Amino acid sequence: MADTPGIVITGASGRMGQMLVKAVAASDACRLVAALEREGHGWVGQDVGTAMGVPALGVAVTDDPVAAFAKAQAVIDFTAPAATVAFAGLAAQARAVHVIGTTGLSAVDIEAIDRAAHHAVIVRAGNMSLGVNLLVQLTRKVAAALDADFDIEIVEAHHRHKVDAPSGTALMLGEAAAAGRGVDLGEVRQSGRDGVTGARRRGDIGFSAIRGGDIVGEHDVLFAADGERITLRHVATDRGVFVRGALKAALWGQDRDPGHYDMMDVLGL
Ligand code: NAP
Repeated sequence: MADTPGIVITGASGRMGQMLVKAVAASDACRLVAALEREGHGWVGQDVGTAMGVPALGVAVTDDPVAAFAKAQAVIDFTAPAATVAFAGLAAQARAVHVIGTTGLSAVDIEAIDRAAHHAVIVRAGNMSLGVNLLVQLTRKVAAALDADFDIEIVEAHHRHKVDAPSGTALMLGEAAAAGRGVDLGEVRQSGRDGVTGARRRGDIGFSAIRGGDIVGEHDVLFAADGERITLRHVATDRGVFVRGALKAALWGQDRDPGHYDMMDVLGL
């Protein structure tokens, strides 16, 4: 076990963080070496298992990323943009693989992550599930096959706690649709219609977000023309699909050359 990759989970008390801690602790392919939370968080200093209400795991929650990353071969990070950008620099210094699931990153955040990826392996994806990454490929193909007589709309639904919209997955799908059409998403993106918006502009890619209850994540890509429409749909019913993808990415990244990779690389799609 000692020669399996040591993993740090950031945001250990979060929805994804807790599932990741349990999955790493239960895995034979890797070891939990640290669980990180922000300074002042009530869990700091407690055993992470005890804090989660399960048997002790022998790993105390820390608020010191430098010390935590120094003993790790991979950092799995589902937190918030500012934290993720800071962790990217620190993980690169420690030469640990940084698996980023955090969404809502700005272009400036992504530039900072790109700089860190000159020195270490970073795997970043707005969605770590096999199904969504296949859906991204299908979306690109369908968009390439159809012309702008087909209006493209992306509709996503998530739980009431989600703070960013459109979701990282919806943006991945939008980028794929735009790439299939050979256009820049920034030029055709249409988000959040309200009031007298005027008629739909030909070629736009629209985004709508539903927020409610405990919805794990649902995405529809609609291609609507006069007289017919196609819908590509993915429904996640269990966050375990993201956890499995993140663990796979952490292991895949070992011994790779530095660079900014995504789940298509990990899954070989
Ligand atoms: P969550 O329950 O709010 O968890 C986020 C955790 O990160 C919280 O414990 C938070 O602590 C912690 N955190 C924030 N800033 C921190 C810092 N500076 N240092 C250490 N910990 C920090 O959210 P979630 O549902 O787990 O989602 C987290 C992120 O993952 C979101 O961006 C979400 O969209 C994304 N996500 C991605 C995928 C994918 O497949 N890529 C799947 C699911 C979710 P506090 O509570 O103290 O703020």
